[in-house]
Amino acid sequence: MIQTIGVIGGGQLGRMFALDAKRMGYYVITLDPQEHSPCGQVSDVQIVAAYDNMAAIDDLGRRTDIVTYEFENIAIESVQRLENDGYAVTPASTVLRITQDRLLEKTFVRDCGIPTADFAAVGSQDDVTRAAREIGFPAILKTVRGGYDGKGQWRVESLDDAMRALGEAKGARLIWERFVPFACEISVVCTRNAAGQVVSYPPSENEHDHGILFMSMVPARIGPDVAQRATEYAERIARALEIVGTFCVEFFVRGDGEVLVNEIAPRPHNSGHYTMDATPCSQYEQHVRAICGLPLSPPQLFRSAIMVNILGEGTGNVLAGTERLLADPSIVLHMYGKKHAVNRRKMGHFTMLFEGPVTQAQIDRAKAAHALLHWTEPAPA
Ligand code: AMP
Repeated sequence: MIQTIGVIGGGQLGRMFALDAKRMGYYVITLDPQEHSPCGQVSDVQIVAAYDNMAAIDDLGRRTDIVTYEFENIAIESVQRLENDGYAVTPASTVLRITQDRLLEKTFVRDCGIPTADFAAVGSQDDVTRAAREIGFPAILKTVRGGYDGKGQWRVESLDDAMRALGEAKGARLIWERFVPFACEISVVCTRNAAGQVVSYPPSENEHDHGILFMSMVPARIGPDVAQRATEYAERIARALEIVGTFCVEFFVRGDGEVLVNEIAPRPHNSGHYTMDATPCSQYEQHVRAICGLPLSPPQLFRSAIMVNILGEGTGNVLAGTERLLADPSIVLHMYGKKHAVNRRKMGHFTMLFEGPVTQAQIDRAKAAHALLHWTEPAPA
């Protein structure tokens, strides 16, 4: 019987997970190096330690019935350590190994019979020349490991650009991906439990700004065949990975309706925040259910939703404009308890709920709501 859940990583995904876990009666222990982290604030206990501090990892394993993580760039050794010591941890290190490495991940997806952008490993000038010839331009070069939110990426149009990117990568292994001229980007949040039950939320349509998610819209403005194909791919990946928990698959949708996997995140996802307000069981509750061996709840969309991220701007740490934002009763605000709104840091989000399809008018309404917000210093005492 699971009573205590451990979470490695103290960010906002952990926080929203912990809030649902607490509501469901679980005791939650977070491990994060930053004291009073967003997740630590709402957990029963926070162990303040680095993700690869093995003594702290052992302590977390000892004090909990199951451990999960909210951030995939943790040391894989931490997950392996828990497994080797006989502690329950999910998703398994086999999942993390694949999803931490863009080359392994894309190869895995292809081996599942699912399309991706053309890609090749690049580690030297010879590799660059070969990829330029065999895959071509425009291309995106990405670090194989460690990148997120558009970090560690170079868009290249020529051999010169690519050689420059190789130099800037300073020896990091790279993947060369053919640029996909997509019609839109979508993602599917999916949950699998140990009994093999798999459920998927309706795809969300995602708009990025400089590599960071800006807005997710649900239902995505795609045909039913595209939605069905993306969902089928996500569920095929769930089964092939044998993942236990909530995870997300991001896709490019081409103009001809072809769906290509961009990446897999082995955890709840920013583009699934809408599930908290627009469905009866959020992606976070679904993760609690999966890891605690409970039945999953078939996703159901109560309302259409547009989720907008609130990023820091580096102009102050206090969010102004929330009175006007919340004068609109269709808007739900979520803030993550972060003290410093440094440039482009994810500080919170809001979800706008409405009836009917996503239209340009609704998108404009969400953007106008976002424009009400800005960061300011606290008023002088
Ligand atoms: P990623 O970190 O791989 O999710 O990339 C961040 C964003 O960069 C994606 O959401 C896309 O908007 C863009 N991007 C990444 N890879 C490609 C690609 N092969 N073709 C077109 N756009 C891409």
